[in-house]
Amino acid sequence: MSSALENLKLTSIQNRVEKTTIRVGDVTIGQDFVVMAGPCAVESEEQLMQTAEAVKAAGANMLRGGAFKPRTSPYDFQGLGLKALKLLEKAKRTYGLPIVTEVLDSRDVTWICEYVDILQIGARNMQNFALLKEVGKSSKPVLLKRGMYSTLKEWLNCAEYILSEGNPQVILCERGIRTFETYTRNTLDLSIIPSIREVTHLPVIVDPSHATGRLSLIKPMSLASVAAGADGLIVEVHYKPETALSDRDQQLNPTQFDDLMRDVLRLQKFMQTLGKSTDAVN
Ligand code: PEP
Ligand code: MN
Repeated sequence: MSSALENLKLTSIQNRVEKTTIRVGDVTIGQDFVVMAGPCAVESEEQLMQTAEAVKAAGANMLRGGAFKPRTSPYDFQGLGLKALKLLEKAKRTYGLPIVTEVLDSRDVTWICEYVDILQIGARNMQNFALLKEVGKSSKPVLLKRGMYSTLKEWLNCAEYILSEGNPQVILCERGIRTFETYTRNTLDLSIIPSIREVTHLPVIVDPSHATGRLSLIKPMSLASVAAGADGLIVEVHYKPETALSDRDQQLNPTQFDDLMRDVLRLQKFMQTLGKSTDAVN
């Protein structure tokens, strides 16, 4: 391994060759392809339940939805907090989808764990070391998003913080990084997927919604992520995107998500046969 990545005692593939797998509900992340889908933010019971029903019907494995939103402006919708967590719990009970939601503050980790299956650390908090240590002490899997200005080394060191506190259940999430390009919201760094495979045993998923910020780009980038070997996707879906209180321009409607799932699952199947045939050659 390059010296730039030395000192990764727990996340390095040099110290653990077998891939990390994480059981959540009836899926094993790192082994089964996983799709997490749902609204950017939980906005109301009707919005969440209708969206959850739609993503479940299309084949998603987990429900995402922000209860606490990290917004650029303090005057923008900040999320419904506890009310949102209760709605997520209800959606989970009704549709059997495990919940992934973002935790913004280290003081909230313990009680939020009672409502969720996966704790999400957002891009803006990737290097919030107090928060990383706190989720490292919890027994819930952590979805660690890549900071928008972060290198692979910085990102893996953040995962290292979580593992070193005793929680080995970390899933990395590439969500695009800031470059000089402005047509897309961020620039999806697809080469990080096979790079991650070279240096760490942790699973990695892709968020094409925040990476592109554009509806038309979500399907091509999802398919490209599958082709690059991602372990899954996290996609924003809203039952009526035109009414969304945050990230209106990038949330798929149920029909668009259904269409995405068909192609993603077809490509995923094909990739598996490709993997088998390369195994045979090797
Ligand atoms: C999100 O997934 O809700 C989110 C805010 O994404 P990010 O932290 O990647 O910007
Ligand atoms: Mn969003």
